Amino acid sequence: MTADSELTELTDWQRELRVHFPIITAHPEMAYLDSAATSQKPRAVLDAVQTYLTTTNANAGRGSYPWANHTTALVERTRQRVKEFLGDPEPGRSRVHFTSGTTEGLRTVARDWLPGHLADGDEILVPFADHRANLDPWLEAQRLLARQGVTVHLRELPYQEPSGDYDHRALAGVIGPRTRFVAVTHIHHVYGGDMNVQRIRDAVGPHVPICLDAAQSIGHLPVSVDRLDVDFVVFSGHKALALPGSGAVWARNASERGPEFRPGGWNGTPNTVGITSLEAALDWLDAAGTDRIARWTTALTARLTEGLRRLLPYEILGCQASLAVGSTVQRRHGIVTFRHRDIPSDDLGFILYDHGFMVRADNLCQAGTDKRDGSVRVSVHVYNTVEEIDRLLTVLATLE
Ligand code: PLP
Repeated sequence: MTADSELTELTDWQRELRVHFPIITAHPEMAYLDSAATSQKPRAVLDAVQTYLTTTNANAGRGSYPWANHTTALVERTRQRVKEFLGDPEPGRSRVHFTSGTTEGLRTVARDWLPGHLADGDEILVPFADHRANLDPWLEAQRLLARQGVTVHLRELPYQEPSGDYDHRALAGVIGPRTRFVAVTHIHHVYGGDMNVQRIRDAVGPHVPICLDAAQSIGHLPVSVDRLDVDFVVFSGHKALALPGSGAVWARNASERGPEFRPGGWNGTPNTVGITSLEAALDWLDAAGTDRIARWTTALTARLTEGLRRLLPYEILGCQASLAVGSTVQRRHGIVTFRHRDIPSDDLGFILYDHGFMVRADNLCQAGTDKRDGSVRVSVHVYNTVEEIDRLLTVLATLE
């Protein structure tokens, strides 16, 4: 199926859903193209938050009166909801821990679980050019262990230039008998490619725990832990239509792959408003269908990429060859990042805003980069339209 036929088939479905987003319909002159940074929220999420705060707001796990009981039940229900949303085949065994987002989630795995799993001389495989949220915590864990006299080696999960994929062929060279842990990203936040977790699993074998940064996949495409053989899935609610400050770590707790994940200590009051919004967002996403959301955003991405490829001054970052809808090599999901040959990315960001487009323009929090590596990132969600993409291409063409 081509991108255009995909878009035609889903047009009516998308049109109905777009009106669920009040901020989008209130600003028809603007195109919000920065959903990889944060998503907009459907009315159902806003309503759920309003209802909670005006009917049963209380603390969780403390009081014994009805509002408190309701809030406690809400937190536990949402824990189960996350498992269900992820297609968890063993919800009785796994654990969901709420965090403020992906950054805190990855840090919790690095701080509360990883050190107890490593011994002197062990190696962990981490990506050096993913989002820095998926590098800094592993460096911190290494430093923490070093202070206890335990030396852990960080091996770089190699990248393939210029596709932005992990270099699966070079992987064999960095995996060894002391490899004890791998951190990977599901969808790359700059290149937009699916990082092919199954191939990492095949390379490291069945016994090494894998932690998946799912910040750019949850809420954008179906994510099933029944199919993805990983041990941790970490995500941010705010990128998946829920409020900022809501996020979670899902842990498989497969005993053969290390100790149980039980983040210890006193966690304080949970973000009950965020958790309310997360439950409503997951309900909304399931009702809309993450498979259709993925088809829509992938097709919009393909249309933008095809259009950009015809415009000479632009260089698209990441994989070029496999952008088509239906590609089995490395599909691009909802993100296109590019540079103009002559116009600095910061300037391009301002120019695009003047034309009604909100995009991201800087180094995109990519580890190992700085401001000089600037680029412009366009990222879409279910509320974006073909018309917005075509309008953007028209404006970009005038800047040749
Ligand atoms: N990982 C990836 C791939 C991301 O794209 C982001 C945010 O852009 C993060 C982690 C960090 O997410 P948060 O800022 O919600 O903690």
